[in-house]
Amino acid sequence: MILVLSPDIRPDSPEYKQLLTHLANLPGISTRVHTEVGSEQTLTEVYLIGNTKALPVEDMQSLPCVDRVVRISEEYRVLGRHKNDNRATYFDYNGVRFGQDTLNVFAGLCAVDTLEHVELMMRALRDNGQICTRMGAYKPRTSPYSFQGHGKACLPYVFELAGKYGIKVIAMEITHESHLEEICEALYVTGNSTGIMLQIGTRNTQNFELLKIVGRQQELPVLIKRGFGITLDESLNAAEYLASEGNRKVVFGLRGMKTNMGDPHRNFVDFAHVPVVKRLTRMPVCIDPSHSVGLRATSPDGILDIMHATAQGIIAGANMVLVDFHPVPSKALVDGPQALLIKELPFFLEDVRIARQAYQQRVVLAERYADA
Ligand code: PEP
Ligand code: MN
Repeated sequence: MILVLSPDIRPDSPEYKQLLTHLANLPGISTRVHTEVGSEQTLTEVYLIGNTKALPVEDMQSLPCVDRVVRISEEYRVLGRHKNDNRATYFDYNGVRFGQDTLNVFAGLCAVDTLEHVELMMRALRDNGQICTRMGAYKPRTSPYSFQGHGKACLPYVFELAGKYGIKVIAMEITHESHLEEICEALYVTGNSTGIMLQIGTRNTQNFELLKIVGRQQELPVLIKRGFGITLDESLNAAEYLASEGNRKVVFGLRGMKTNMGDPHRNFVDFAHVPVVKRLTRMPVCIDPSHSVGLRATSPDGILDIMHATAQGIIAGANMVLVDFHPVPSKALVDGPQALLIKELPFFLEDVRIARQAYQQRVVLAERYADA
């Protein structure tokens, strides 16, 4: 059970102390307090753990400071959508809103290779009105002999260039806790010229110790990818690990599933699950058409498969798109064959806008029929 307290409640107020004393005396119930400091208000939630079935909602509702009571199901306690649960489905980070009603595009390099390529990419993003990107510095690779990313060596110039071109958030995968420290250090040294969304890749979806470490910090938001060979429930529980440790700024990423039926694409595109994740949880949902499709094939209508898949995810309500671009894909050190060209960025963004408009029209249509 969650007690959502009135906004801006002060921990030293007599009512708050009275509430906690009352809860401490409930037999078989322990409490865990979560505070979310937002730009406009501070929200406090008290989680009641134990035999909460015996507690009548009306009684809890009448306790001091309590604004709302949510009875939660066992599944995805923090991130899940529960009955009568109208808690926020968005968070703000570095001036950008990520929610189940918003859409942000993160076009960029799968892996940072040269400073020149980073700059070409960021300039193109700025020229096309973009404020988010993806830049890989730590790359988990199938072969130990493949390029593993430049690591911390590239962070200073990536962050400085991001500041120069007005990039607010960079999605960047980490595979080890030391990477988190290196990123925080580089952000500090470069005067926090940009923001970072930490990415947990599909190979680490169930790296529980990494999830706990990333979840324990509440500064940087996290994009967690669906595990490519596990159930959706297992992946959503992995996301819950982050939130249970304290970080609720979590975006869930669909990136296709490993299956023999994935042919002729790199993975079997799973974007029909966008509405499923939005229904089961309050997380914004990201799609990664590049790692799903994995190649630059074009259908007879002149549209790349990657763009078709993007549109399919957006028309189903996706909230974020992570997509690989490269100034010279033949020179990319990772995933060149699936990179879109910088000259294709305006085409891509316009196609995104069309799909988003279609989604919004579908929502209006659904509302009209619901009222009828
Ligand atoms: C990536 O986004 O660069 C990546 C490696 O993705 P995934 O973990 O989905 O394979
Ligand atoms: Mn990649």
